[in-house]
Amino acid sequence: MKNLKSNLHEDYLRSLMFGLQDGIVSTTGVVVGISTGVNDKAIIVLAAIVAVMVEASSMGAGQYSSEKAVHQMDKTGKHTDNLLIGAFIMFFAYLIGGMFSIVPTIILDQPIARYAAIASSFIGLFVIGFLKGKIVEHRPWRSAIELFIIGSIATTVGIVVGSFLKV
Ligand SMILES: [Zn+2]
Repeated sequence: MKNLKSNLHEDYLRSLMFGLQDGIVSTTGVVVGISTGVNDKAIIVLAAIVAVMVEASSMGAGQYSSEKAVHQMDKTGKHTDNLLIGAFIMFFAYLIGGMFSIVPTIILDQPIARYAAIASSFIGLFVIGFLKGKIVEHRPWRSAIELFIIGSIATTVGIVVGSFLKV
């Protein structure tokens, strides 16, 4: 992890964390929201895959544009990161984040799949928080708990709203 800390550009780490966390939180909301109103596994999985692909592309594009604006404004000279690489990291991180709820939805049947998706996402947040702490070499367990709490609150909001609306 020491190598990673010295070689990984800060902006790539931000894309990675943002994509993973957002991918987990948003996709879990979508999967749970749809599965409360629909029982057909194929429809739930299809909707979740469409949602995750659209969102990942949008996040990659957003990463590119926003980082470009920051680079044009750069006063520190620290922005040696490549805009396209940052956009791709965001895209793939979001997709991977989404898989934490999509994979259980594919493997299992409802309603168990729904609870497995939530559990898998919460565990994912915890593990990603821990790994982040390892990479930045700062209190991995604390980092794990922090991401777990932040992410699970956001996920719960999505789930509650989704359940009310029965998307
Ligand atoms: Zn940058």
